[in-house]
Amino acid sequence: MLYVNDIFYSIQGESSYSGYPCKFIRLAGCNLRCAYCDTQEALDIKNSKPLGIDDIIKSACGSGPAGVKLIEITGGEPMLQNESLELMNRLIELNYTVLLETNGTISLKKVHPDVIKIIDVKCPSSGHSKAFFFENLKYIGRNDEIKFVIGNKDDYDYAKNFITEYSLGQTRLIFSPVEGAVSHGEIAGKILNDGLNVRLGVQLHKILGLK
Ligand code: SF4
Repeated sequence: MLYVNDIFYSIQGESSYSGYPCKFIRLAGCNLRCAYCDTQEALDIKNSKPLGIDDIIKSACGSGPAGVKLIEITGGEPMLQNESLELMNRLIELNYTVLLETNGTISLKKVHPDVIKIIDVKCPSSGHSKAFFFENLKYIGRNDEIKFVIGNKDDYDYAKNFITEYSLGQTRLIFSPVEGAVSHGEIAGKILNDGLNVRLGVQLHKILGLK
């Protein structure tokens, strides 16, 4: 059984899969309270429904056309619930490309190797820059991605230093500006100037007015 906040079908907006149709399972509960959090409704399990894995799979797989085989487990923080591991295993068995969006503070050791992990490293403006679980750097596979949500210039510098300090040059990296807090153009200019090998994330689903 898992606490589920929402199941829906939309456009993936925040990774290398940005722009693709995707089925989403938003699990409830989070161990952080980021200053810019835009999924407040998913932070508490009070706003959730306890559902068995079979029911979740039925509902999520049926939320969009059968031909869409991209599915994302998000939150809240999905890794707070142990059964999310089993849910991901089952979706892999069903031949889905499974994305896991996680805040990076809980061990990812047991996540199925075929799951594509999109791992946040929290920058200072989140209020949780000390929360990263560093052992997770060992579990980053070649298809996984690290995402830095950038709320100001200090966050940009923090992310840039983190990449150098932990030798992440070969990892897929995303710099995602906080909507309304910092301009996309400013971050784009800095990335160009510094020649960073990172993807600028623009939260496509929000631009489109989707979930
Ligand atoms: S980790 Fe994600 S869901 Fe949790 S508070 Fe931060 S932004 Fe919100």
